[in-house]
Amino acid sequence: ASAVDIRKVNKYYGPFHALKDVDLAIPPGKVTCLIGPSGSGKSTLLRCINFLEEYDSGEIRIDGQLIGYEVPGRKMSGRKLRQMRRSIGMVFQQFNLWPHMTAKENVAEGLIRVRGLSKSEAETRAAEALTKVGLADKMGNHPARLSGGQQQRVAIARAIAMEPRLMLFDEPTSALDPELVGEVLNVMKALASEGMTMVVVTHEMGFAAHVADQVAFMEKGELVAVDSPQGIFHAP
Ligand code: ADP
Ligand code: ADP
Repeated sequence: ASAVDIRKVNKYYGPFHALKDVDLAIPPGKVTCLIGPSGSGKSTLLRCINFLEEYDSGEIRIDGQLIGYEVPGRKMSGRKLRQMRRSIGMVFQQFNLWPHMTAKENVAEGLIRVRGLSKSEAETRAAEALTKVGLADKMGNHPARLSGGQQQRVAIARAIAMEPRLMLFDEPTSALDPELVGEVLNVMKALASEGMTMVVVTHEMGFAAHVADQVAFMEKGELVAVDSPQGIFHAP
């Protein structure tokens, strides 16, 4: 079974048809990269997966459960939707860290507020997550005292500390200076090799070619090709 099953999904912004009958199966434990020109609908599709964006028709299922709707047309309650979202980690282009908190506090906050862990349990888990992304020595730093690459790694640590079943990345390296891109991609690559299910919107073709298991190419709201990286990048 797929981790995420996207069937005939359509999305409109007013009269603008942003997603056109999109069909895509996201295999569990694998990396799927979404590529394509700017404005082709990649971010919209990603945001539909955790219902940050409502889709107009079709279905998106996560581990078989319809996301956003109880049945087509009838929306999930806010409580159910929040519960569902908690099992999905998302990393954005902007790091969205709290400036007044240290790296460790940024990661621990969600564990305390959402998971209900005690402060000390949350800090232990935050320390583990930060160690995993290579920031064991920066846990006491505030975001202003971290590089962009380090801030994005804190954002990744914050997501993985919640033990998500699925991680969504929306152009996670696009806001970074070129010399900081590699450290973030390497953390993502390490997550991939642990078998995390990942969907990654990216312009990093090296990453898509060498790390993805599946590449989906979008153009003008349509998924025009889904294949292995070999199939996408070395087609005649
Ligand atoms: P990509 O991620 O591939 O760059 P997006 O999914 O961000 O593309 O956008 C797809 C299209 O939908 C673009 O033409 C964009 O202008 C349009 N769009 C995105 N968000 C909105 C919105 N909130 N309102 C209206 N149009 C939007
Ligand atoms: P870019 O297209 O930005 O130059 P790279 O090609 O350097 O990106 O690679 C991006 C990511 O893919 C890095 O994490 C890198 O370690 C990984 N990568 C690049 N080439 C290979 C390869 N041949 N085998 C495995 N991983 C690779």
